[in-house]
Amino acid sequence: MSTAYVETLEKGRSSSKAVPHRKLLVDGRHVESVSGRAFKTLNPATEEVIATVAEGNEIDVDLAVVAARRAFEGPWRTMRAADRGKILFRLVELMKQHADEIAALESLDAGKPIAGVLRQDLPAAIDTLTYYAGWADKMTGEVVPVRDDALTYTVREPVGVVAVIVPWNFPLMIGMWKLAPALACGCTVVMKPAELTSLSALRIGELALEAGLPPGVLNIVTGPGRVVGDALVNHPDVDKVTFTGSPGVGRGILRGAAGNFKRVSLELGGKSANVIFDDADLDAATKAAASGIFFNAGQVCSAGSRVLVQEKVYDDVVARLAQRAQSLRIGDPSDRATSLGPVISEKQMKGILDYVDIGQKEGASLVTGGERVGDRGYFLSPAVFANVEHEMRISQEEIFGPVVSVIKFRDEADALRIANGTAYSLAAGVWSRDIGRVQRFAKRANAGTVWLNTYGYTDVRLPWGGARDSGFGREHGSAAIENFTEPKAVWMNLNV
Ligand code: NAD
Repeated sequence: MSTAYVETLEKGRSSSKAVPHRKLLVDGRHVESVSGRAFKTLNPATEEVIATVAEGNEIDVDLAVVAARRAFEGPWRTMRAADRGKILFRLVELMKQHADEIAALESLDAGKPIAGVLRQDLPAAIDTLTYYAGWADKMTGEVVPVRDDALTYTVREPVGVVAVIVPWNFPLMIGMWKLAPALACGCTVVMKPAELTSLSALRIGELALEAGLPPGVLNIVTGPGRVVGDALVNHPDVDKVTFTGSPGVGRGILRGAAGNFKRVSLELGGKSANVIFDDADLDAATKAAASGIFFNAGQVCSAGSRVLVQEKVYDDVVARLAQRAQSLRIGDPSDRATSLGPVISEKQMKGILDYVDIGQKEGASLVTGGERVGDRGYFLSPAVFANVEHEMRISQEEIFGPVVSVIKFRDEADALRIANGTAYSLAAGVWSRDIGRVQRFAKRANAGTVWLNTYGYTDVRLPWGGARDSGFGREHGSAAIENFTEPKAVWMNLNV
C-alpha cells in the first residue's frame, strides 16, 4: 500500500467496486478471515465506506496465538537483543518515510484533523517506537549478594504472547504505546484494533514485515470486540492483556483473564478536572482548558471535561471558553486549517447529544454548542455548560465528546473535594500563580498525572495511567518494560 492507497480510499468511495479490502495479518501473511466475512469501515466525516476489513473470529484468534507462540519461542525471544532493536529502528525509518500516508490514513479512518495527527499522533507514535527500540538491548538484571557460597542474580524475561487491545480515539499512538515496549521486550503480539479504526494498525503491520519482523511476531486480527477481543482475553495461551478502552469492557477483561491468571494492564476512562483559581493567568488557562476538552473532539481519556473555576472569575472564564468554542474551525479533517473534526460514529454522536439533553434537564445552562452540524458526517458544535453542580451526571460521567462542564468552587478545599469526587483517577490540572497551592494540589489530586499551569501533555518517558475506574498499571518509561517482562531469580552454588 502506498500513498495511492489513501487516494483510492478518498476517491473510490462512490463505487463499491473501488473500495479496497484489507485482510488479517497472521503469521506474516495477509489472510482472509476463516469465515470469509468482512465489515465496512467508514469515514466519520462523510459517512462513506472507505474500506472493507476481514472480520476475524475465535478460530482466527487461535491461529494468530499459535503463530505468536511459535515466533516467541524462536526467533524473537532468542534473537540478540540488539538485533531486535535494529528491526524496530528500521520500522521507525519506514514510518518516517511513509509519514504522510500513515497520517492521511489515520485522519480518514478516525475523522481526526490532519493537522493534529501530524502534530501529535504520528510524532508520538514514532517517538514511542524510537524510545523502546533503544530499550531492546538495555534491559539488565542485577547481581544481588545473598551468601558467600552462591552467585545470586536476576534476569528479565519477556512474559510471552501479549494481546494488545486498542480503542478508536488514538489508534496509531495508543497502539504503539503497547506494541513498541512489548516487541522490544521480546514478547510476541496479537493485536486487535477497534473495529471502527483498523486501517493504520494493518498498515503498520505491513511496514513491520518490510522492516524484517519475523512472521508471527506481530499478528493483527480485526473484528468486533465481543468476538475477537473476548477470544483473546479468554485464550489459555495468551500471557498478558494490555487494554485501553472503557471501564465496562475493562471489567469484563479482568474476569476473563482470571482463567489462566493473565497479567493485565488497563487504561480506562476519565473525568478529569482542570482547576482555575482566581489568581491564574486566565488567558493561558482558558486557552488550555478549551484545547484540553475540544482536542480530538473531546474523545480523549484525559480530556479536561470538568473545568472548575473559582467564584470571582467564574463568569469571565465561562465567557472566554464559549468564545473559544465558537471560534473553532469545524470541517473536513483533511484540511490543515480544521481544528475540530467529527466524532467517530453515529452511535457516539447520539450518545453525546443525549448527554446535552441530560445536562439541560438536570438544570445546567447550555451556553453554546451541543448541536449536530450539517447532516453528513458526525460533526457536533463544541458545547459549554455553565452552572453545573458537582452531583449532576454531566459532571460525573464520561461523555467522551466536545462537551465541557464548568463548575464553580469557593476555595482550595472545595476545589480538591470536587476534583477528587468522581469514580475516575486519571489526570488533573490546576492553574494558579501561588506555587504552594499548586504543589498542594499536585500532592492531593487523585490522578496518575497532574499538570500545573499547563494541560494535556504526555510523553513516553513519563508514566501514564490511573486508578479506580481509570484502570491500573502504568504505560511508558521503564514501567512498560516491567509490564512486559518478569524478573527471574537465579541461584548458583559456588561449591561444586
Ligand atoms: P471500548 O472499551 O468499547 O473498546 C476498546 C477496545 O476493546 C476496542 O478494540 C474494542 O473492540 C475492544 N472490546 C470491546 N468489547 C470487548 C470485549 N468484550 N473483550 C475484549 N475487547 C473488547 O472503548 P472505546 O469506545 O473504543 O474507547 C473509548 C474508551 O476508552 C473511553 O472510555 C476512554 O476514556 C477510554 N480510553 C482510555 C485511555 C487511557 O489511556 N486511559 C485512552 C484512550 C481511551
